[in-house]
Amino acid sequence: MVYGSCLCGRVKYQVTGDIRSASHCHCTMCQKQHGAACGSYANVDRAGFSYASGADAVAAYESSPGVTRGFCQICGSSLTWHSEKSPDCIAVSLGTLDAPYLGAVEDIFTETRVGWLPES
Ligand SMILES: [Zn+2]
Ligand SMILES: [Zn+2]
Repeated sequence: MVYGSCLCGRVKYQVTGDIRSASHCHCTMCQKQHGAACGSYANVDRAGFSYASGADAVAAYESSPGVTRGFCQICGSSLTWHSEKSPDCIAVSLGTLDAPYLGAVEDIFTETRVGWLPES
């Protein structure tokens, strides 16, 4: 079981099953939405994802056709990313996990990687 929550604590979610993969997404939309160099996400089974509390505080923004980004309306934490092209999968923001993720993280969309991020 994986647990996560937003900054203000109103929204709590849980995931049954393992994290399939994780990525640092350097696309310009993730940079804007996260206000950071990249958006870091864990990919999990959508069927295993559920909100334990605060689902009513989650808003969804459609950042491109079929792609929705869920966030807490109170504190602004980026929580989820979902594409209709991969209906069985949902991505949860790595930084909202309640326990540190220790697995591998892949860098994607690195052609728009910002120059001010130190080399890894
Ligand atoms: Zn919140
Ligand atoms: Zn992205």
